Amino acid sequence: MNNARPVYSSDQGRLCPECGRPQAQCQCGKKPALPKGSGQVRVGRQTQGRKGKGVTVITGLPLAEEALLDLARQLKQRCGTGGTVKDGVIEIQGDHRDALVEELTRRGFAAKRSGG
Ligand SMILES: [Zn+2]
Repeated sequence: MNNARPVYSSDQGRLCPECGRPQAQCQCGKKPALPKGSGQVRVGRQTQGRKGKGVTVITGLPLAEEALLDLARQLKQRCGTGGTVKDGVIEIQGDHRDALVEELTRRGFAAKRSGG
């Protein structure tokens, strides 16, 4: 009976019923939760204090920092331009709203163009 998983283990403490790991090693509950009131990704533009076409600003992405940086890197590549991630917001240099809405939608985000 090597496969039997006790729910409790005296030396490891409480075990996760989902993965059978001690809770200290369990990743089940650690997936990034969607920020409240989000799920709507907005792709806007900011020109104030910026040169030329300004930057495309993507807000409301329900991603953890690491995934956000990874996505930003791919979006910059897609647009052939630079950009940054700041406080959970992706900034892409230049006006690439249409391309970015399309790209985000393709990746399964409910992306919507905003602003003028
Ligand atoms: Zn678990």
